[in-house]
Amino acid sequence: MRSLVVLGSTGSIGTQTLDVVRASPGAFSVAGLAAGANWERAVAQARELGVHWLALSDPEAAERARAALPRSVEVLSGERAAVELCERADYELAVHGIVGARGLEPSRAVLERGKRLALANKESLVVAGQELMALARSRGGRILPVDSELCAIFQCLGGDDVSRVRRVLLTASGGPFRDARPEDLAAVGPEAALRHPTWTMGRRITIGSATLMNKALEVLEVHHLFGLERARIEVVIHRQSVVHSMVEFVDGSVLAQLGPPDMKGPLHYCMHHPERVDAPLRGFDFGLFSKLTFEPVDPALFPSLALGFRAIEQGGDSGAVLNAADEVAVEAFLERRIRFTDIERINRLALERRPARTGGIGAMLASDADARALARAEIERLSPPAAR
Ligand code: NDP
Repeated sequence: MRSLVVLGSTGSIGTQTLDVVRASPGAFSVAGLAAGANWERAVAQARELGVHWLALSDPEAAERARAALPRSVEVLSGERAAVELCERADYELAVHGIVGARGLEPSRAVLERGKRLALANKESLVVAGQELMALARSRGGRILPVDSELCAIFQCLGGDDVSRVRRVLLTASGGPFRDARPEDLAAVGPEAALRHPTWTMGRRITIGSATLMNKALEVLEVHHLFGLERARIEVVIHRQSVVHSMVEFVDGSVLAQLGPPDMKGPLHYCMHHPERVDAPLRGFDFGLFSKLTFEPVDPALFPSLALGFRAIEQGGDSGAVLNAADEVAVEAFLERRIRFTDIERINRLALERRPARTGGIGAMLASDADARALARAEIERLSPPAAR
């Protein structure tokens, strides 16, 4: 039986991770859970799974959970609760679905112990990919990519050397505005942007799928995880979200990984890796696979995508800066403080004015903080409190 900790257990990835656990009786035990504020859901999960550890970043939520659970459950509280869980619990694999750059420190804690990390939290690699990859190598840990596009590339590579790769083709659904006109985007509101055509996900990644910033972040993930430079990474619009990504090898042969748009697929794969194990998931189906289309990305409609490539070229703290600005800008858009098109403008500005630090997770987190301050100042300028 493989022992797990599930980070972000109350969210979209976390709840689907627990669905995979339930669908594989006898395969997994859950030692600990980490979440933010949703203590009621976390307590129900802790009871059902009989966990020893529960980490909640919100102190009030942790207090309520402590009162509701038996004393045998150790409840950790505060912003570092998930990190402490990763440092102290006894587990083999951490499944990581916390949202945002706050997921970086738990990733570091898992890899410092030389453990396996099934990583959905894309921000970890975007902010400090170089550092985490070095840590995994030096401590004997392993990063297994849950993000469906990266998981697809990982499966297509099958352990092959990337020197034999001509290019990877990352697929993107294009989100809800793939048929919009660029001039109409300034007026779109959060409701329309949250209406994703193929995936049901958390709010941040759903907005990122509408701007294509999510794809820009994945471009950075691919760069760090597989060691591929900018010239060998391409993005293609694929509306059906059935081909999760493709790898073209130097001999012109192309391998693609296909499946219904269901995150339980990549979760199941990473949680059982290196075994392939039965799953109650759909496979090939004519209804689903009868029409697969591929289109180039329109740069006028999706200017955010170029920022990901630019961040690879600039290196250093560019990923940290881009991600931090986007986290702040997306929140402001959801609060209706800025327009949809301001998200890209703020992210570009942050990249242009980045502090250009290099080396070490501490330096990346300092640049993250600077970029957040810059983005907040810009939002204040665009939407002063009196005008709201
Ligand atoms: P959700 O918003 O649905 O869930 C986020 C989770 O993070 C919740 O459990 C939340 O807890 C928890 N959380 C928030 N703050 C903290 C904190 N300070 N400490 C501990 N836990 C915290 O997001 P998603 O599940 O959609 O996404 C999670 C990550 O996975 C993101 O990085 C996303 O990009 C990536 N991803 C998601 C996919 C998807 O299909 N959803 C696909 C590919 C990647 P609470 O709710 O209790 O506050």
